[in-house]
Amino acid sequence: MQKILSLGLVIAMLASCSPAKKEEAPKKDIATMSEEEIQAYAEELAHKFIIVDGHVDLPYRMEVKGFMLRKEVEDVSVETTGNFDFPKSRKGGLDAPFMSIYVPSSYNAGGAKEFADSLITMTLDVAKVYDTLFAPANSPAEIQSNFEKGLISLPLGMENGAPIEDDLANVKFFFDRGIRYITLTHSKDNQISDSSYDTTYTWNGVSPFGEQIIAEMNKYGIMVDISHVTDSAFYDALRISKAPVIASHSSCRHFTPGFHRNMSDQMVKDLAANGGVIHINFGSTFLSEESRDKFDMMDSVLTNYRAETGLSRRDSAFVAYAEKFAADNNVFADVPIVADHIDRVVELAGVDYVGFGSDFDGVGNSLPVGLKDVSMYPNIIAELLKRGYSEEDIEKICYKNTFRVWNEVIAKAKELQGS
Ligand SMILES: [Zn+2]
Repeated sequence: MQKILSLGLVIAMLASCSPAKKEEAPKKDIATMSEEEIQAYAEELAHKFIIVDGHVDLPYRMEVKGFMLRKEVEDVSVETTGNFDFPKSRKGGLDAPFMSIYVPSSYNAGGAKEFADSLITMTLDVAKVYDTLFAPANSPAEIQSNFEKGLISLPLGMENGAPIEDDLANVKFFFDRGIRYITLTHSKDNQISDSSYDTTYTWNGVSPFGEQIIAEMNKYGIMVDISHVTDSAFYDALRISKAPVIASHSSCRHFTPGFHRNMSDQMVKDLAANGGVIHINFGSTFLSEESRDKFDMMDSVLTNYRAETGLSRRDSAFVAYAEKFAADNNVFADVPIVADHIDRVVELAGVDYVGFGSDFDGVGNSLPVGLKDVSMYPNIIAELLKRGYSEEDIEKICYKNTFRVWNEVIAKAKELQGS
């Protein structure tokens, strides 16, 4: 399927080729456009540019849909109730969501490699079964080529390095399976790194074995993902890695003081100085202190409600109550708040260091109004246009920044293997 260029876009492209018109920034045009026209322009850009998302939790959603032991494999070739599927991706212009091979910390004690391997198989099966819709992708060049064929790429990132277990050879094993970034840890300290959600500080940063793992990741061209780690582990990773590092799904701590899962201003600056990229997490609780407070409040109200009524989280009466409570109390963040985080990175470091890392299907019940699923990327692009971002800026945010880092990681691996 080819991406269709609208007449308006063709005219805009021709205009941008003319030297006389080149000075005209899209911002000027935006000022004269109606809301509908800006939205249409954003939709054109969403489909003209590759959109990479640093973190989409489809694999785990396929593994366990709902709660308890009920398993139901999702058919994402058709419309689903989840955040990600083919029709929604097509509508929103999403081309390369990093599929999160999420390994819960409960596997840190054992079975992590096997579990990760099974999620990888399931995710690659999606591309195998629906090979006219999806394709695996192991590099920016493969994403580009899939895009030109009208296929949605499913690159793989592993969330939690626990599956490396205690064997360095597992880095190559997972590289061969298609893993192209590893989030060093998840919600607990593991054998590689301390976690921002843990308070044990097992290693005061990255472990000695973690240092070897990062070196091995550099050697094969696996990106180091510092989302979820402590500040000390972030600085250790920055020091140890010979290639730039990424945050696959983190936001700016500036808006959520004390929430260490997000990056401080200084960390954003240091990540950028090292050539990396932060992919902004869309979850409401990552975006503002107000949202965090409201979610805390909602959590205690709903816990009390369940205790009083005896309902479980899955009871439809409870779900209806929870949905009504969320709507009545306006708990969700919105698109402008997500854009504030992008602005913040741009102010601190520049437009070359930011991308999207939605956490779709990972934070489903906390997504902002206007960014509830992968069909809605045009809404954030429209907001960026309104704030004066140029097409070139938006192209960088959509994929070029991620591609730059990934290509540098690949080039460094070649260099290290050659030496
Ligand atoms: Zn995560």
